[in-house]
Amino acid sequence: MIHRRTLLTSGAALLATPALAQGRGGVPDRAITVTVPFAAGGPTDVISRLVAEGMAKDLGQSVVVENVTGAGGTIAAGRVAQARPDGTVLLMHHIGHASTATLYRKLPYDVQESFAPLGLVSDAAMTLVARPDFPADDLAGFMREIREKGEALTLAHAGLGGANQLCGVLLQSAAGRKLTTVAFRGSAPAITDMIAGRIDVFCDQATNTAPFIREKRIKAYAVTLPQRVPGLDLPTTAEAGEPDILMSTWHGLYAPAGTPPEVQERLSAAIRAALREERLLTRFGELVTQPAGAERATPAYHRRYLAEEVARWRPIIQAAGQYAD
Ligand code: ASP
Repeated sequence: MIHRRTLLTSGAALLATPALAQGRGGVPDRAITVTVPFAAGGPTDVISRLVAEGMAKDLGQSVVVENVTGAGGTIAAGRVAQARPDGTVLLMHHIGHASTATLYRKLPYDVQESFAPLGLVSDAAMTLVARPDFPADDLAGFMREIREKGEALTLAHAGLGGANQLCGVLLQSAAGRKLTTVAFRGSAPAITDMIAGRIDVFCDQATNTAPFIREKRIKAYAVTLPQRVPGLDLPTTAEAGEPDILMSTWHGLYAPAGTPPEVQERLSAAIRAALREERLLTRFGELVTQPAGAERATPAYHRRYLAEEVARWRPIIQAAGQYAD
């Protein structure tokens, strides 16, 4: 398990006064920890650090990012579910939080009931990519290789239940072939191995792959959204003949269940403030990642969306018949 802490302190934190404390809406006046379930340098980590920076500025207090990796994000989620519900220990998680509800039959927490969703923060296309010398130049060739070689090819993922693994399920079911999957603690180490030629194929967030695609350090074939994304010269999977490989990876921030409603509201307002920050918007743009609109960055929307996503992935995972336990 990797633990890494980084302190993000805004200048305002140094000026903390009782008036500012009130402005925190009951959030205790000490550092907030955003627990990140995947490795430093990957998409969840990058998004978390940008959001944490903006929240620190808005709240006038420190926000610490801590990477607690392993088991598809369930170790980090379990830790936050157990934390004191006062708003100082939070979880940044993605679509994988919804899928683990089905994929893991013995979780020590309830994906929906043990958390207070605070707001969605982002959406990103997944990209189908391969090592730099992979023998295919378009999605048809990529799928042909997979159909011909099957288990002779390696497919990376960041733990069972992670976005990469879900996209890998869609890819393998579209190809009608199983690949040899290799688990990593996040997308960052997986991409490093792919650039070095040790992993053949991967389906990963544009947040992570866009810079490597632009620098031609990996090959890229398609984005998994119904429409193309600006900033990446790639067809959609539907345009390239594989309409069933369709998913976007959303991220959201959670507090433990039982966090007072006014604290939830204050933290949610801080997310919305962070999503208006110039630096975050510029970085998200470079990483082809959509910030959540203000109407989606709310507890009510996030709670509803999580429930829909749990229901959406349940039959897909059950049909695949593969569980993590
Ligand atoms: N991309 C990883 C996953 O989707 C998570 C990460 O490294 O942020 O499972």
